[in-house]
Amino acid sequence: MTGQWQKTNHASSTKTLAGKVKAFVDEAIIPNESKLAMRDQRSLQLQMELSQSARQAGLCNLFYPLSHSGKIASLEDYLIVAEQEGRTEFSQDIFGSHTALDAHMLLRFGNETISRQFLEPMVSGIAIPCYGMTEPGHSGSIPSLISTAASLSKGRWRINGRKWFISNADRATFMTVLARTGSEDMPIHHALSMIIVPADTAGFKMERQLTMMGHSYGQGEVSLTDVQVPEQYLLGICGNGIELMNKRLSLGRVLRAMNWIGLAQRCLDLMGARIHSVRGKFSRLADKQLVRQHMVNAYHAIAGARELIRVAARSVDAQAPDDIAINVAKLAASRALCIASDSAIQLYGAEGLSDLTPLFGISRIARSSRILDGNDESLISSVGRRLINFYEREKVYSFD
Ligand SMILES: Cc1cc2nc3c(=O)[nH]c(=O)nc-3n(C[C@H](O)[C@H](O)[C@H](O)COP(=O)(O)OP(=O)(O)OC[C@H]3O[C@@H](n4cnc5c(N)ncnc54)[C@H](O)[C@@H]3O)c2cc1C
Repeated sequence: MTGQWQKTNHASSTKTLAGKVKAFVDEAIIPNESKLAMRDQRSLQLQMELSQSARQAGLCNLFYPLSHSGKIASLEDYLIVAEQEGRTEFSQDIFGSHTALDAHMLLRFGNETISRQFLEPMVSGIAIPCYGMTEPGHSGSIPSLISTAASLSKGRWRINGRKWFISNADRATFMTVLARTGSEDMPIHHALSMIIVPADTAGFKMERQLTMMGHSYGQGEVSLTDVQVPEQYLLGICGNGIELMNKRLSLGRVLRAMNWIGLAQRCLDLMGARIHSVRGKFSRLADKQLVRQHMVNAYHAIAGARELIRVAARSVDAQAPDDIAINVAKLAASRALCIASDSAIQLYGAEGLSDLTPLFGISRIARSSRILDGNDESLISSVGRRLINFYEREKVYSFD
């Protein structure tokens, strides 16, 4: 694609929004991070109050579709805002950005009923989505193993199965369930579908919360026992679950990568602050070559990942998602976050491992980024295969 590496001309309204989000993160969220990290009743209350303030300031749901209160026209343009939102691990809930992916999916593939019952309430902040793909008992990376089954009878879907590691399972009001609607021998590309299930439907049960690296992030295990929902709750058409899953992953990976880069940049900034702190000056950290190397490694990883994300976002905007670009961008952003958070913890010494800085919380997110939304190995394997196949046909790969 010609010009795919060109710089972005961000809209001036987007630059203004990025500035406002930055100020909100610096002034309202970061000073409250240690309280928000408690994840108890009081921190939930605080999170709701901050979310209310962000909503009043016009900073919520910025990447929603323009027809549904969004303020930014393209994924590429959103990069500078998403990075600012991503600088704190708590911003997704406060700015509502974790729901942008569902908003785009419901608008694009939902019918009138879905729009009225789920999308509109989500836009007004009443409904909270979650996504049910991964199942206990078999590899989440292989959709052909999905065993949650849905069958249609007399205008209603009947669903049975179990999902786990579902983000926001503890507070979601509805789940988009990836279920098998075709027989075992049907090709997987026609065998799965996405069906929306309200969390208050009989047979939908939050079985247990699951902690991640000793911390509760709202993931849970959910069982669906003879759950019944109207036929109209099918997203897209019957049998196109894999196609929808791939579309969801394309946008989802880029959105997450953008947030991770913001978090990685925060680590770089914290490293700079530590080096120039009184403590850092006493230890003459700025003069140490190995400290400089930490800075360069983090900078290098962040700068490279940002450009890869830009290219990936451009392909999604053009309705021609480039899997190589998207998967490499996700891998690069995850690596940048792992490198930057690890280097920052190292420079902060014991404090970096304690709750006195946000770094240990960030490192948990960094570690999970290598598994979430496609593990490293699957992505590397898929990109490698595509590149090798490319050279079956061509002699030179063009980066222009
Ligand atoms: C923070 C977090 C939030 C999540 N939120 C959700 C959610 O909202 N909804 C949802 O449905 N799921 C969610 N998940 C689950 C996530 O989608 C799965 O963890 C992911 O798809 C991997 O599946 P798995 O855990 O079953 O690992 P597996 O698929 O069993 O993979 C385990 C390991 O096996 C190896 N492996 C797998 N495939 C390959 C391969 N092709 N080549 C080489 N090695 C391979 C890798 O080392 C891999 O890490 C979440 C996970 C995390 C960590």
